[in-house]
Amino acid sequence: MENETLDLFVQAGRKRGKILISACLLGTPCRYDGKSKACPWIAKLTKYYDLIPVCPETMGGLKTPRDPAEIQEGRIRTQKGRDVTDNYQDGAYWALAAGKFKNVSLAILKENSPSCGVHFIHDGSFSGKLIPGEGVTAAKLRKNGFHLIDEEESKTLLEVLEKENGK
Ligand code: SF4
Repeated sequence: MENETLDLFVQAGRKRGKILISACLLGTPCRYDGKSKACPWIAKLTKYYDLIPVCPETMGGLKTPRDPAEIQEGRIRTQKGRDVTDNYQDGAYWALAAGKFKNVSLAILKENSPSCGVHFIHDGSFSGKLIPGEGVTAAKLRKNGFHLIDEEESKTLLEVLEKENGK
């Protein structure tokens, strides 16, 4: 994470700013497998921010649980071969709309997801291999001026804020 990006998030935390966040990181069981990806430190961020949860895949009309999907040459397909690109694009649209409605420009997104991945995504072979890249929603938010970090980077963010507050 660049220092400039960390600074933006820290400044927002000093004045109880708003952050868009992948809903599964907050504990919503909205992942393709019907589980969440709750991170204990994410809950602590509610001390410093108003967190606005979004799940682009369900906002785009996909059910939970659902077949896993990966990005393949610009399209998003499930492991069974169904093209779900429109759902992913609709979800990205609604996540951006939520951010704009709340006047937000910062987001913490779940790494490796074909929607939310910030630095890495799966390579499209459904073999678990990761490649540098970003999910559909991450790309749309970034293109519209959002600053993004993943869940691991948000741990560093929390450490900085807790240190400032003597914890
Ligand atoms: Fe989590 Fe994003 Fe996947 Fe929804 S689309 S389950 S918020 S990673």
